Amino acid sequence: MFKAMVLDNSGGTISASVREMDESSLPAGDVTVAVEFSSLNYKDGLVVGGTGGLVKKYPHVPGIDFAGTVRDSRHAAFKPGDPVLLTGWRVGEVQWGGLAQLARVNGDWLVPLPPGMDARRAMAVGTAGFTAMLAVMALENHGLKPGGEVLVTGAAGGVGSVAVALLGKLGHEVVASTGRAETRDYLLALGARTVIDRSPFADPPTRPLESERWAGCVDSVGGPTLARVLAQLKYGASVAAVGLAGGSKLDTTVIPFLLRGVNLLGIDSVMCPMAARLAAWQRLVGDLPAAAFDSMIVEAGLADVPKLGADILKGRVRGRIVVDVNR
Ligand code: NDP
Repeated sequence: MFKAMVLDNSGGTISASVREMDESSLPAGDVTVAVEFSSLNYKDGLVVGGTGGLVKKYPHVPGIDFAGTVRDSRHAAFKPGDPVLLTGWRVGEVQWGGLAQLARVNGDWLVPLPPGMDARRAMAVGTAGFTAMLAVMALENHGLKPGGEVLVTGAAGGVGSVAVALLGKLGHEVVASTGRAETRDYLLALGARTVIDRSPFADPPTRPLESERWAGCVDSVGGPTLARVLAQLKYGASVAAVGLAGGSKLDTTVIPFLLRGVNLLGIDSVMCPMAARLAAWQRLVGDLPAAAFDSMIVEAGLADVPKLGADILKGRVRGRIVVDVNR
């Protein structure tokens, strides 16, 4: 038996409870992991709240990421006792996920925990932080170098917090955009040079081109914010589009692409190839300042997940929520 957060569907109403489950109910897979920590991401909020149409079959165990130790393995690359982590591959959506003491998955999806990172730190990074690293790497691959202002939108959220800390450590002039003025000191301590209010980004640009300002941007908000950023990118600069916390519709023109040669870079953490995953986790060991972990983390247990899931969808969570599945 193992303890899990379980979602049930009763006539379209989704309910969540922490229950003892039989190991025989775990999905197919060649590696079983004793999970130590999972984390709470925006997508977990959607799944736990029963919105977004991501889960097709109930009962369901949510949790789009986890870190722990291999318990049983029929996969050549893993043996019992190996420390591992997993993000993405639609785990926690189409198959049972990490908000449980046990998870069974395809071993091809697992990443060996990089030396220098334990399970708790790995989940302090989690899907959101891993995605922030992918976004920073994409900007670097398109020419971003320290020197100009780099904007991070949704800065006090999970993706945003890790992006601020990473870019700050890498020597960039980070401008953190937030709707929560009370997070100012937090964002400055994480590595932001300047904190700005997000309200000017709430409306799309009135002109196809606005004054050039940003040398790069990590955007977890989407919608009118992303349209506005595109109109304000410097010549040849890039924005990494990560999320849709402010909307999925992008109403823009091709003018910034044609006249300023800007780049709109799509970031996907779910089906990201293994080589990029390994490179990103390796970078996260060295490029994320240790002090960032202390200020970013809120620790929770399985029973806290439903309330925190609702909070994250309302943009009320600061930084990253690490879930101790044994608590
Ligand atoms: P969080 O809820 O932690 O952060 C989102 C932040 O966006 C909030 O904290 C808030 O920041 C800001 N925000 C929320 N609502 C609005 C709004 N209506 N208008 C403007 N800003 C808003 O979520 P995550 O960081 O976990 O995820 C962020 C986004 O990235 C989500 O859309 C998620 O689905 C996506 N994502 C995508 C991935 C991928 O592979 N592409 C992987 C992981 C996440 P503040 O208070 O500072 O303004």
